Parts: sequence; C-alpha cells; structure tokens
Amino acid sequence: MPQAPHPPAKTKRVRRTPPMTRAEVAAFLGALARANPAPRSELDYRDPYTLLVAVALSAQATDASVNKATATLFREADTPAAMVALGVEGVARHIRSIGLWQGKARNVVALSQQLLDRHGGAVPNDRDGLEALPGVGRKTANVVMNVAFGEATMAVDTHIFRLGNRTGIAPGANVRQVEEALVRRIPPDMLRDAHHWLILHGRYVCKARAPECWRCVGAEWCRYPAKVTAPPARRAG
Ligand code: SF4
Repeated sequence: MPQAPHPPAKTKRVRRTPPMTRAEVAAFLGALARANPAPRSELDYRDPYTLLVAVALSAQATDASVNKATATLFREADTPAAMVALGVEGVARHIRSIGLWQGKARNVVALSQQLLDRHGGAVPNDRDGLEALPGVGRKTANVVMNVAFGEATMAVDTHIFRLGNRTGIAPGANVRQVEEALVRRIPPDMLRDAHHWLILHGRYVCKARAPECWRCVGAEWCRYPAKVTAPPARRAG
C-alpha cells in the first residue's frame, strides 16, 4: 500500500464533512463491497509472522517495494528463529531499498527475538502482546489482528483518516477518534472487510489531491460537498 505519511497522531484542525447517518454508512460500504466482494491486503505474506514483518516494513514505503524486499528476505528467513539467525546486517541486505531500513532491520530482528522469548515463536493474537513488540504500534497491531486473525479491528492509515473526514463516514480530529467512530458506526458484519475497502478506495478512487467522484460507486451516499463530477479534460494535441 503506498504507505503515505502517517495521519495526524494528535488532535488538530481538520476540515470535516457532516457525518453520514448509519444507514448511509452501511449503504456506502455496501456499494464498495459489491465492487470488491473479497478484498485482501496487497502485501505478500504466508502466515501471521510474515504478515507482521511485512506490515512492520511498510511504514513510509509502498506495498510494491515491501513485496520486492520480502520476496528475497522470506526466501532466506520466514520464521522468527531464522530471522534472528540472519541478524540485523543480513536483514538489512534485503530491505535497503525501502525507507527507514536501518531501524526496520533492527526492529524485525528484535521483535523476532521477543516472539521466541515470550510467545514460543508464535505471533500473539492480542493487542497487548503485539504492541509490546519492538516497532509495533497500534496501527500495525490492528492490521495483524484484522488480516491474520479475523478480528474486527480498524487500522487507520492516512487514506482511512482522509476518507473518514472527507466522506462523513467517521469524522474525527485524530486517528484514534476516526478509528473509534468507524468501529462504532460500521455494521459489525462489515467491519472486518471495511478496513480493506476503505484503504483501497482511498488509494485508487478517493485520492488525496483529487478524488475521482465521477467514477465512485459510493458517491450517492458520500457527504463531501465538493464532489468532482467529471474527469479532467484531456489536453488537446
Ligand atoms: S464521492 Fe468523491 S469524495 Fe466521496 S467517497 Fe467518492 S471519490 Fe471520495
């Protein structure tokens, strides 16, 4: 996923659209669901451990760049024990093309060691255990709990933060407020997949600079007051 810059962690002034009603939230997500009935992460992974490593590497990096790095990294090490044996320098050799690689290499080896020391080499399926791992914050924990363990968590990245406020689905001044509003307002049976629907919608349609409202399947329910109703005219010649 282009892991665009993190959304604001602290409360700040954000231009907000009036909130959708709960019926509108369900209808909006229903439209996204019909367009993509089986959404999935664009990160390559094999199991909870490789997902955890891939998500930990994805901050400030695109999914494509992470997938390129993990394609060779996971050939050499796809378990905590193998990652610890590979060591920081060994991990760094595979991930130098992605942002913040030095810190990420240290964190991947340290979190692997902690999985061995405290969890018998398994990835814990609980927030406290995940967030205690080096380099793992609330967003990464939410992704792992959602994607690997099927929990109805909502990881708010920059795309979801923008959508929450722009569309009116879950306005909030910071990521935590948007996360809590989404969990409260999205029908429980849609919550798990909503994470993917919203990220993919923000990445490919409701883009940061210019939302492509003319081709948006959720436009009927979106409350954004400045919808773009036609694609930019092609340049002549
Ligand atoms: S109508 Fe436009 S602003 Fe609203 S969700 Fe669709 S792309 Fe985004």
